[in-house]
Amino acid sequence: MPELPEAEVVAGQIRSRLLGAPLGDVWVGRADIVREGFSTLSWYPGASLQSVERFGKSVALGFVKDKVCRYVVAELGMTGLLLFQSTPTKHPQHVHVKMLFEDAREPELRYWNPRRFGRLSLLDRAGLDRYLARRFGLDPLAASQQDFVELLQSRRGRLKSLLMHQQVIAGIGNIYANEILFRAGLHPQAQVSRLSVGKLEKLYQIMCAVLHEAIACGGSSVRDFFAPDGTEGQYKQRHLVYGKAGQPCPNHCGGIIRRFQRERSAYFCLRCQSLRSTK
Ligand SMILES: [Zn+2]
Repeated sequence: MPELPEAEVVAGQIRSRLLGAPLGDVWVGRADIVREGFSTLSWYPGASLQSVERFGKSVALGFVKDKVCRYVVAELGMTGLLLFQSTPTKHPQHVHVKMLFEDAREPELRYWNPRRFGRLSLLDRAGLDRYLARRFGLDPLAASQQDFVELLQSRRGRLKSLLMHQQVIAGIGNIYANEILFRAGLHPQAQVSRLSVGKLEKLYQIMCAVLHEAIACGGSSVRDFFAPDGTEGQYKQRHLVYGKAGQPCPNHCGGIIRRFQRERSAYFCLRCQSLRSTK
């Protein structure tokens, strides 16, 4: 948390309010929040925000100055958030970076990260390409059905772990993996190699539908996710299984949602998601 839909919401808000804005200054409260490229920090003031892209659960801000392009990549996984100045933060001491914009709709974009699991990286284009190649597999929203089916057919292992493996499929975490598998009627521990093409195609379609619907709802605010302007995501109200152990199955099959502790808490209905249903 945040996962792909939340990162997409973050990127969308920053794009709509800050694209084209000139960066005045960058304040870094603690150097160890920058994973890579700290020595290039002085390049950024005076550059303009040219692009805002999401990769997996990260957001890359592209800046341009004198025809040179450099990036600030913010990892949002676990506890990192990008917030506008007007959004109150619970623990302001955890604002580790402030980007100050001039003549922009938002004067300031902050990187807030209380547990410091995520980092920022300051990269040139080649550095960004290396960063992406190392970390991120297929993007669920950019991949075609055929790409997705072929990728899964080439892999072995348990389905839920594979969906959450960022170097295979980038952006899906525990919440959306559970929600997608329930809707697809697939057991979290199903062996990928045993799934029919028909099942994989259905999985792809449901994955895309869930992610698009979640983005439209502003993501899921579980624990501490807020969009940059402070709004909470509403997709949590549409969760069917995540966090619902012990409740009756929403398919009215008569089963109970179970929680399986291994593999980052799988939530599923054994009747609707039988291990034998792979054809
Ligand atoms: Zn059920």
